[in-house]
Amino acid sequence: MKQGKIIVISGPSGCGKGTVIGELLKLDKNFKLSVSMTTRAPRPYERDGIEYYFVSKEEFERKIKAGDLLEYTCYNSNYYGTPKSELEKAQAEGTDILLDIEVEGAENARRAGLNNLITIFLIPPDFEELKKRLELRGTEDATTIKNRLIRAEEELKEKDKYDYIVVNDCLEDAVKDIYEIIKK
Ligand code: 5GP
Repeated sequence: MKQGKIIVISGPSGCGKGTVIGELLKLDKNFKLSVSMTTRAPRPYERDGIEYYFVSKEEFERKIKAGDLLEYTCYNSNYYGTPKSELEKAQAEGTDILLDIEVEGAENARRAGLNNLITIFLIPPDFEELKKRLELRGTEDATTIKNRLIRAEEELKEKDKYDYIVVNDCLEDAVKDIYEIIKK
């Protein structure tokens, strides 16, 4: 069976990563999302096992110790990590897998020496737009938004380490650009 691609998509919080990934998943049935594990509280619309596996800090630390995670990070006081089982499942099914992970996770994925890895950094058209999108989303309080914006500035400095940089100015174009990159 043909080995699927592993596509890492990073980008600052509020840049529209989730929406872009959602559109990619609709576009191609051979794309699967890598469901991450997190200790963050679920947002009202999020379902366990679909957007994330929501676990306690103790459970997450057990997974780290057991070596069950490909990579993990601490982001705004919560753990986030990619279960190895997500990649194994995709490999067994021959599907391409999309990883929505931040810059440290992307670096660890590069270091893991994975075959067929493509890394893409999605950027918002400008910083003001990012702030507006985070405020409009309305899922975080003011302190969390402030912390996410500080982190966004740090993350933007890492963009040149990625194979591709895509600007999310227009959703349709960004999705099309990423689709073409994956299919190249
Ligand atoms: P959010 O709380 O907005 O869902 O995610 C916060 C950040 O964590 C986003 O930048 C997202 O890409 C990143 N993230 C989600 N899952 C993982 C993961 O498994 N590993 C890493 N390193 N980052 C993740």
